[in-house]
Amino acid sequence: MKCFKCGAGMEKSTTTSVTDLGNCLVIVRNVPCYKCAECDEIFYTGDVVEKLEKIIDAAKKVMQEISIIDYTTAA
Ligand SMILES: [Zn+2]
Repeated sequence: MKCFKCGAGMEKSTTTSVTDLGNCLVIVRNVPCYKCAECDEIFYTGDVVEKLEKIIDAAKKVMQEISIIDYTTAA
């Protein structure tokens, strides 16, 4: 896989996703991704994006100011 920003090779990695929903912050740790070796651009595959959306949706309902969720243990 090549970086869509600079064209360098991307490597499998994990990252922390931070989503600011205005009234609450959702932090998801250990999210699998591809990371560019050159510019640190992050790319998520489709199924990861889908699961992230579900996690964030569930976190919204909890209405906590800050939610910290581990991707690997989230439903
Ligand atoms: Zn790049």
